[in-house]
Formats: sequence, C-alpha cells, structure tokens
Amino acid sequence: MTPPRHVIVCGAGVVGASIAYFLARRGIAVTVLERSGVACAASGKSGGFLALDWCDGSPLGPLARASFALHAELAKELGADYGYRRMDTFMLAARETGTVAGGHRVAAPRWLDGAGVVTAALGSTETTAQVTPARFTGALLDAARARGATLRIALVEDVARRDATASGVVTAEGETVQGDAVVLAMGPWTGRLAGRLRLPGIYGLKGYSVTLAAPDVPAHALFVDYRTADGRALEPEIFPRPEGEVYVCGMADPAPLPESPELVEVNDGSCAVLARAAGRVSTTLADARIVRRQACYRPVTDDGLPLIGRVPGLRGAYVATGHGPWGILNAPATGLAMAELVAEDAPSLVDLRAFDPARLRAAR
Ligand SMILES: Cc1cc2nc3c(=O)[nH]c(=O)nc-3n(C[C@H](O)[C@H](O)[C@H](O)COP(=O)(O)OP(=O)(O)OC[C@H]3O[C@@H](n4cnc5c(N)ncnc54)[C@H](O)[C@@H]3O)c2cc1C
Repeated sequence: MTPPRHVIVCGAGVVGASIAYFLARRGIAVTVLERSGVACAASGKSGGFLALDWCDGSPLGPLARASFALHAELAKELGADYGYRRMDTFMLAARETGTVAGGHRVAAPRWLDGAGVVTAALGSTETTAQVTPARFTGALLDAARARGATLRIALVEDVARRDATASGVVTAEGETVQGDAVVLAMGPWTGRLAGRLRLPGIYGLKGYSVTLAAPDVPAHALFVDYRTADGRALEPEIFPRPEGEVYVCGMADPAPLPESPELVEVNDGSCAVLARAAGRVSTTLADARIVRRQACYRPVTDDGLPLIGRVPGLRGAYVATGHGPWGILNAPATGLAMAELVAEDAPSLVDLRAFDPARLRAAR
C-alpha cells in the first residue's frame, strides 16, 4: 500500500491531536480541522487521570497499558510541561452530613482530615498518573505543527468521496478540503455524520467539574463513595494538579448533546455539590475558592468500547472516538495505532479488532 501524502484529521480534541502528532512524526502532511478551538470540549475539561491496569480484563486493557507507557515517553519527547506526574490513588467514603462508621482502613495522607474515611489504596506511583488535559492536547498539537501539520478552524459537514473512496471533507462554507485520507475524531459530535456514513451510533454523556484554588495539595488522586444529605449516591473524583488547583468531577446528567461545544450549559447547583463533597474530605478543600465551573460530554458507543478503525464501505476514511471515561488515558496508543493503520494498513502496537466500527450496526 502507498501511504497517503496528506491526511485530514477532523477534531482537535485529545484523540485528533494525538493522531495528528503520530502522523506528522512519520512525515505525513496533516491538516487538522476544528470547528471551535483546540481542547474546547471534554479534552479540555476532563480529569486527566491515567491508570496502567484499570482496564485489564476488558478489550481496552492492552490499549490502556500501551497508552500508559506512551504517556511516560511523551512527557519527555514533547518537551512541554503539561502537568504529567505519577500519583498515589485512594478510595474514600464520605457523607454530606455526619460521619462514616469506623476510622481509616489504610494509612491515610494527613491532608485528608475531613469527615471522610480512607477505605483502600487503589493505585501507586507505579500504576497511576495524571496530565492536565487541555495542556496535554495543546502540547500534542504544537508538536504536530512543529513537524509541519496545520490547524484550520472549520466546521466539517461531510466526507467528500469519489466512487467509494474518501477524497477530503466538505465544510459548512461549502469548501472541499482535499486529502488522500480522512480521520473523524470529533468526539460525541462524530455521531452527527453517522447517518451519512455507515457508522454506528455515537453519543455524548454529560458530566460536571469544578476546579478549586488549593496550592500545595499532595499528588493523591481520590475516588469518593459519597452520599448527599438527600440520599443520592455519587462518586466524585478529586485530582490535585501541579499548577495549584484541585479538579473535582462527577454528576452524570442525561441532558442531550447540544449542537456545538460553546452551547454546553453549566449547572451551578451540580458544581456546588461537587465542591461541597471535596470539602467533606479535606479542610483545605472546604476553604478553597471555586476557580472554574465546567460541563462537558464524553463520547460513548452502544457497547462501551471506542470506535478505532476504518469507516465501513468508504476507502480512505477512518474514525477514532467513543473513548468514554478513558479518552485522555487512551489517546496516545489510539493516535499511534491509527497512524500505523492509515500509513501502513496494519497497526502493530495494539490489535484494533475489538474496536472495529463494523462490529456494531450502522445508525440510521
Ligand atoms: C467530567 C469528565 C471527566 C473525565 N475524566 C477523564 C480522566 O480522568 N481520564 C481520562 O482518560 N478520560 C477522562 N474523561 C474522558 C475524556 O475527556 C474523553 O474521552 C476525551 O476527552 C474525548 O476526546 P475526543 O478527542 O474524542 O473528543 P472531544 O474532546 O469532544 O473533541 C472533539 C473535538 O471535535 C470538534 N468538533 C466537533 N464537531 C466538529 C465538526 N463538525 N468539525 C470540526 N470539528 C468538530 C470539537 O469542537 C472538539 O474540539 C472524562 C470525561 C468527562 C466528561
């Protein structure tokens, strides 16, 4: 197979940025088309927590392990500081009012001095880590651009085709941007093209987050089993970041995916619940000012596995999305494997068969 000379990557989230980087690293010309801004959606608003072995036992296991190793390599290779560091990770139980019976069940870090109980150590610096997702996505794209990739702001509306082969994309302005191959990585919005292509359904699942101003909090990721005063069971996740903020996320919301990332609405009540939960596990966090309130949609599929592979029935068209709660973790191996698939027709880093879009019925 002759490798394509010019690839169009649609979407500048973490998945599109990673694919662009690994294609550019191979010397392939890349144009990234992004409707709004780099990392403007989930890839700029998510947790950035990474785990070596939490996907073991599922088809995602090898992708996650390869990605965890690639994250460590990229932290050196990209030459940018985007907050990559290893962490210890703990499970806690906490209530909005009252206490949890019994004391800590494992040795608890001193800053966890609220009403919560540490129930388990979930990971160590060998197995868990983090990045700051917006900065990581930006660093990947900057490195792709340093190798000749270009970024254009444009809304992709369709894949252009000649016979049964992709020849580029059509933008909302009616322009056809020519390319020898097209990769669709538009997160949950990739689903908007599913009806025109033979792609399965791709949806968005909404979640909220806040960041708190809290310098000097140690690198300990927290997963909390939390009950609100009105009896709701929630599972907030708390990630201190090296830049002096603590990120807290959770609160799934069935609200439908809006037309564009700019139209995602933030609910202050949901953000307040998250900030309060953080305050229950640490007095430092109880006193911390909320810096940002955010919401975003993770891309999900019908079987919970990503779509990474060829668009059925259309030569030269590929898709990479549906990474659910693990898109930041799994972006590196997705990018490298997709670059191998596009350039050589044969990914060698990980077996992509479990992620083949053809495994699911096309949405129509
Ligand atoms: C609250 C929350 C916390 C999370 N925490 C973690 C975590 O700790 N660890 C982890 O690994 N994962 C986490 N995730 C999951 C992760 O954020 C996502 O899986 C990942 O960001 C998806 O990346 P993406 O590039 O596929 O999509 P997106 O980030 O959605 O990017 C898609 C891009 O495509 C653009 N686009 C859309 N339509 C078009 C169009 N027509 N033309 C051109 N461009 C278009 C968008 O503007 C956007 O920039 C979390 C998700 C949520 C919601």
